[in-house]
Amino acid sequence: MVTSVMPTYGRIDIAFERGEGPYLYSTDGRRFLDFATGIATNSLGHAHPKLVTAIADQAAKLMHVSNLYRIPEQEALADKLVATSFADTVFFCNSGAESLEGSIKVARRYQFHVGQPQRTKIICCNHSFHGRTLGTLSATDKEAYREGFGPRVQGFTHVAFGNLNEMRDAAAAEDAAAILVEPVQGEGGIFVATPEYLRALREIADEFGLMLVFDEVQCGMGRTGRLWAHEWAGIAPDIMATAKGLGGGFPVGAVMASEKAASGMKPGLHGSTYGGNPLAMVAAKTVLDVVSEPAFLEHVEKTAASLCGKLERIAGKHSSVIEEVRGAGLLIGLKCRVPAGDLQTALREQQGMLTVGAGENVLRVLPPLTIDESHVSEAVEKIDAACAGLARHAA
Ligand SMILES: *Cc1c(COP(=O)(O)O)cnc(C)c1O
Repeated sequence: MVTSVMPTYGRIDIAFERGEGPYLYSTDGRRFLDFATGIATNSLGHAHPKLVTAIADQAAKLMHVSNLYRIPEQEALADKLVATSFADTVFFCNSGAESLEGSIKVARRYQFHVGQPQRTKIICCNHSFHGRTLGTLSATDKEAYREGFGPRVQGFTHVAFGNLNEMRDAAAAEDAAAILVEPVQGEGGIFVATPEYLRALREIADEFGLMLVFDEVQCGMGRTGRLWAHEWAGIAPDIMATAKGLGGGFPVGAVMASEKAASGMKPGLHGSTYGGNPLAMVAAKTVLDVVSEPAFLEHVEKTAASLCGKLERIAGKHSSVIEEVRGAGLLIGLKCRVPAGDLQTALREQQGMLTVGAGENVLRVLPPLTIDESHVSEAVEKIDAACAGLARHAA
């Protein structure tokens, strides 16, 4: 008999009842070091006092009103996102997939607006993940996710991530509208775009009149040590999708765009009932206030350098278990020589530490951005011990 919760997930048999900073406490009394963070979402850890207070205070005042009216909390968050990024204007939604849907609409509408309505094709990359709606499934490079869900939404094509020749050829097509890339690919297996690649994408988009769209749903909001991952390359997209870490655990997404990119958008062309409600806006503004502080981002960068350095040493010591450490900032992948799921299970069941799987036999290490050196040491000891156990087992 089917479970009352539709069985769309392969779930691990643990339930949590509360969290505090980087720790989660399960209903059966165990404590876990949470380096999964709800998949790069609990950016401030659990029960961050500022976020808890902001949400509780706002919930007691006003949760939802509708975009039929002005929403001052929305204007405040949009102002701050604009002030701290390339963007001139922001549309709010509730999830990553919606932020991609909105980004794709803005990109296509721009081409329509400038008299190029035939330009509808979105050029995406191999290993990409952009969400599970019918539209974003077509942008995602994973056939298994689409099987049995009817005709594929048209207007998407894929090229090899990092391959500029393939990208140029696709961009030269008459129907090309936009390039859509994750500056750091997450679900696909932690593949980091080089700054040179991102700069070349900017040039190709300009040369052929395409919109450059970055999906920073996972890699944005401070995770790489800059507020937005593309800042490392010194260039800006025309449009950017963000979500996950934006709300620190509260569901919220945003489509961020330059004035030019959004020039085709007019009242009535896009909308969301919940998008930009006062409660979500206050949550995200609170997270952004914390994360956008230069000292906070410096802390992320320093902590990430320390964690990565130590993980490199573990990988060297246990080369039969870990092949490579890769990633950017606190978006880290351990490419495994054993099944990545075995390392994930050993960490969880023997060491009390949570991580997340990714494509290409990679284990993702996604701590809260608020961790300090003591949590780095704790994590590294656990990974060392788990690797030692697996290496012994394999020998
Ligand atoms: C998670 C993710 C999405 C989809 O976000 P949802 O909130 O699950 O819809 C899109 N793009 C990237 C890069 C992601 O990591």
